[in-house]
Amino acid sequence: MRVAIISDIHSNYVSLEAVFCDIDQQNVDQIICLGDIVGYGPAPNECVDLVRERADVCLMGNHDAAAAGLDSIETFNVFAKDAILWTQKVLTEMTRDYLSGLPFVHTSPDAVYVHSSPDRPEEWNYIVSVYDAQNQFLHFGAQVCFVGHTHVGVIFVQNQFSHKISREKTRELNQNERYIINVGAVGQPRDYDSAASYGIWDTDSNKFVYRRIEYDIPQTQFQMEQAGLPQYLIERLGDGR
Ligand code: ZN
Repeated sequence: MRVAIISDIHSNYVSLEAVFCDIDQQNVDQIICLGDIVGYGPAPNECVDLVRERADVCLMGNHDAAAAGLDSIETFNVFAKDAILWTQKVLTEMTRDYLSGLPFVHTSPDAVYVHSSPDRPEEWNYIVSVYDAQNQFLHFGAQVCFVGHTHVGVIFVQNQFSHKISREKTRELNQNERYIINVGAVGQPRDYDSAASYGIWDTDSNKFVYRRIEYDIPQTQFQMEQAGLPQYLIERLGDGR
């Protein structure tokens, strides 16, 4: 089976469409979204509609919870906060209801999927370092855990001797190892590559591949300007930071 895993769309409809266009050419059997459909960007309702239509599973992200009014925005930085307040104003009731009902975890026979971290998915912890990952490996039993949240695609590897970080773009998953795989962000990449990021996991060959998809960034930036979203959020899309 081939599984496409997308995350952190952040109301960027132009990048989401480009990613689905690529997915359509990849012969996938299932699409899983790890959350943060909304926040930061200009098209929350449109992105939710498309994810609802196309994804087989969608999980709750911290921006989805905040936009739906389930979480406080106190811990958000000033730009994220402004964008959430704007999002709350434009969300339709249907979109808000959908976001409110999203689950925090999805499990399949050989993998677990969360937005942030497997230990307490509703607390939005970040897995940034090998040290963070080492602790998180204690909190799931499957061979692989897929995450988003940091907007940086990276693979943490555990074997009987060590924990490592890998930035390979293709990884054969080995039975003697376990993995935490961050698929990167569709709508706001932060690894200094502005192209949308998502991943494809082939469960038969047990191989994971990152896909990087160019999209019309000025188009999204124009929509953000029209919406009056913060300038910093508009600029960061251009250099992927
Ligand atoms: Zn995010």
